[in-house]
Amino acid sequence: MSKTIQAIRGMNDCLPTETNIWQMVESVLRRVASNYGFAEIRMPIVESTALFKRSIGEVTDIVEKEMYTFDDRNGDSLTLRPEGTACCVRAGNQHGLLYNQEQRLWYMGPMFRHERPQKGRYRQFHQFGLEAFGIATPDIDAEIILLTSRLWRELGINEFVTLELNSLGSTEERANYRDALVEFLTEKEDQLDEDSKRRMHSNPLRVLDSKNPEVQSALVGAPKLSEYFEQESLEHFEGVCQRLDEAGINYVINEKLVRGLDYYNRTVFEWVTDSLGSQGTICAGGRYDGLVEQLGGKATPGFGFALGIERLVLMLTSLDKVQNLRPQVDAYIIMLGEGADIKANALAEKWRDKVIDIRIQSHCGGGNMKKQMKRADKSGAQIAIIIGEDEIANETVTIKYLRGQHEQQSMAFEEVPSLLSNLIKG
Ligand code: ATP
Ligand code: MG
Repeated sequence: MSKTIQAIRGMNDCLPTETNIWQMVESVLRRVASNYGFAEIRMPIVESTALFKRSIGEVTDIVEKEMYTFDDRNGDSLTLRPEGTACCVRAGNQHGLLYNQEQRLWYMGPMFRHERPQKGRYRQFHQFGLEAFGIATPDIDAEIILLTSRLWRELGINEFVTLELNSLGSTEERANYRDALVEFLTEKEDQLDEDSKRRMHSNPLRVLDSKNPEVQSALVGAPKLSEYFEQESLEHFEGVCQRLDEAGINYVINEKLVRGLDYYNRTVFEWVTDSLGSQGTICAGGRYDGLVEQLGGKATPGFGFALGIERLVLMLTSLDKVQNLRPQVDAYIIMLGEGADIKANALAEKWRDKVIDIRIQSHCGGGNMKKQMKRADKSGAQIAIIIGEDEIANETVTIKYLRGQHEQQSMAFEEVPSLLSNLIKG
């Protein structure tokens, strides 16, 4: 026998036992995005490598070591998208959606990063992302954060997540700060690890984010970015905080929150949880006022976030928040005796016409009552609709309830649609 072929490490199948959780999550995400007037955009999964180098930044973890990059047959360098914001900006620029107008967009789909696979971290994972273009004021920052907070409430996990908030200031303020930080880091160079020494010159703010405790202790007394903010940045951040306060959204200001992508300025935020072990960030985003121009468009402010759907699904499952999902099948049709299957399938078609959301599974392949009942039960259906020779003669069906304590009942063919409607309403 030849060896069976396995999926690529870190790239997962989503089996039918999980797809119903995914579908529930996706439908909440879609609905909440439209509750705030956002429209869907769909972008390709493969883009020019240059797009990510120019947006995410040459010296970020993603670009330096996580991208799936390959040469197309004609020699162009292509990359499987590691995130969606750059793709969304590329599409917006290309189709003239951004300049001098407002856009509120969302997208959902697979992203690819060559990281070490572990719980909550995969090589193909899925993000839901949302971006607003053309609004420079803090109202949109706050509104989008409120939108994320609504997601957690609707999914029942709001008690298990914390909002962390920071401001990165403007590009100029960051440049001034950067000089001061490099000066400070140079004095402490002998206490830094190799990664931080390298970053000190290429991307010094990322040193603040180091997970190495020795580096963190060397950072005590480092200058703070917020000390370099001018009036406008201070007011912008104040504006975001005020609106969150007014809406009763709790947050923690984390001055070390710098994000791993280079395009952010001013507001950045993350929603974190301790119910997922070390992969604790479920959602992250912020403002990126320079990105559209950096990618060749006319200067247009932007604000957005992305959330990891796998982490959300893991969280919902581990917190037991995925009970009462609708099963894949509502009603299972059992057919017994000569010619019953032909009649039963014709009836099932009529019922599907009448109750458009119904999920009816018709038994196939024959067999006795015991065998068909077993299948009915396994399907997850709430009821079995039994159609035998007697039933056909009387134009009735027998309903057997598969869950809970209900008496079996008999009813006319034409009464079945209202029973089915009630079944899915309940
Ligand atoms: P992390 O710090 O966990 O590496 P990140 O800062 O690289 O996250 P972003 O690029 O901001 O993450 O992506 C937004 C969200 O996408 C993350 O908060 C997380 O929920 C999810 N995510 C990122 N990378 C992965 C991955 N490899 N596997 C699963 N989910 C991921
Ligand atoms: Mg990462």
